[in-house]
Amino acid sequence: AHPADGIDLMAGPWEVREKLAPRAEGPPLRLRTYFPAELDAIDGLAAAYLDDSRRHIERYAKAIGPYPFDGFSVVASPLPTGFGMPTLTYIGAEVLKLPFIRATSLGHEVLHNWWGNGVFVDYASGNWAEGLTTFMADYAYKEDESAAAARAMRLGWLRDFAAVPAADQQPLAAFRSRTHGAAAAVGYGKSAMLFVMLREQIGADTFDRGIRAFWARHRFGVAGWSDLRSAFEAESGQDLATFFDQWLTRRGGPAPRIERARTQARAGGTQLIVDLAQSSPPYALKIPLELVYAGRRERIDVEFRDGRRQLTLDVDTAPASVRLDPELRLWRVLAPAQLPPILRQWITAATPRLAIAQAPGPSAAADETAAAAPALVQRLFERAAKPGSLEDLDRGSGPMLLIGSHAAVDAALAGAGLPPRPASLGVRGSAQVWTVIRAHGAPLAVVSARDVGALQALSRPLPHYGAQSWLVFEGSRVLERGVWEVRDDGVTVRQD
Ligand SMILES: [Zn+2]
Repeated sequence: AHPADGIDLMAGPWEVREKLAPRAEGPPLRLRTYFPAELDAIDGLAAAYLDDSRRHIERYAKAIGPYPFDGFSVVASPLPTGFGMPTLTYIGAEVLKLPFIRATSLGHEVLHNWWGNGVFVDYASGNWAEGLTTFMADYAYKEDESAAAARAMRLGWLRDFAAVPAADQQPLAAFRSRTHGAAAAVGYGKSAMLFVMLREQIGADTFDRGIRAFWARHRFGVAGWSDLRSAFEAESGQDLATFFDQWLTRRGGPAPRIERARTQARAGGTQLIVDLAQSSPPYALKIPLELVYAGRRERIDVEFRDGRRQLTLDVDTAPASVRLDPELRLWRVLAPAQLPPILRQWITAATPRLAIAQAPGPSAAADETAAAAPALVQRLFERAAKPGSLEDLDRGSGPMLLIGSHAAVDAALAGAGLPPRPASLGVRGSAQVWTVIRAHGAPLAVVSARDVGALQALSRPLPHYGAQSWLVFEGSRVLERGVWEVRDDGVTVRQD
């Protein structure tokens, strides 16, 4: 279909703005916004969309090959749902106002003009376009931002995947489109991580050449995973059959581990001996190991293709510990202890429990904050909560949420011998929400509010923050939020 056909499908009272951007070859690029008058009137918004559309198009033209169309339009939809088609993205008017959309979703949609609408997906062999688009858009923007931001996105992929029950885990080759969370965890997360690992395997320059060769060869044609593999094999000279086969056709992922690490003295130096293990059938992996010395760290990449491997390295001095893939560059199944607790575990819990922290003594009956707790959890949890108390926390396994006023929460935690309110949160804002890091026992999260109004103000926003470990609210506005850092001390090196 000719791309311009798409515009006729949608009618609406739009203000149209147009900007022509000259190109080295061919006619100028025709950039447009179709915004309703109210949205168009927001100072500088439409102009910013035009500029950022052009910026994204230029970025990908440089990385992949010339933009294959003559125009691109951003069309406001009255509904929050959006979709894309060649040369056009249709995004909810309210969503278009959000400041981060131009930097993230817009670039993702622009890139689909190459992946999906420029090279078409051979759906019979699986959808590679979402993963490649996520890798070159959403993930690339995180890499532009910082190494920590990119790591946080990789952690998010692994964390979302760890939440998918094994029975619902599909191989990547079976992914067609985002129909539910389990599909997205594979079709976006695992798929994008495949490209992270592939780039590590063949090198960034070779990877970039492979991308351009794939585009040049399949522009306006249908292509599948095997065509991507051929392009990267041709550029790298490597046989990538095992790599693509294991990541596309196997469900789940590997869980490699360090079983032991020790040093032994030998003539002229020290040897570090690391025992690696993974379950059968093994994956062919390139594992980043980090040797942790006092004051410095050293990364080495290790081939690991069997169920076990004993690695022997000559070292100048003995490291204190060895960590396996601390930067999370490998697609793998993380154990619960490796995952930061986030609110989604409470929101989606099969058997959530509610503990209400009552103001101590005679004021308990008049504790309005406690009285408002059930209404909040009804909004927050997907399933009905059972009443519980902190004393029973470890007599069940379901996630427990403790709710109360600041004083009542502090007293309840202290009385049960649990970790106090995190010093990093203090009592800033009108309410704090946090998950408690516990080595063992049932998951615990806390909602602590200044007063009943502060508690009630959480009922609308809080369900949207499932990806967070902690939040500080002022009324219904989030002041700060974050995901707890999970410490990975690795395996201590024994000195023989
Ligand atoms: Zn997409």
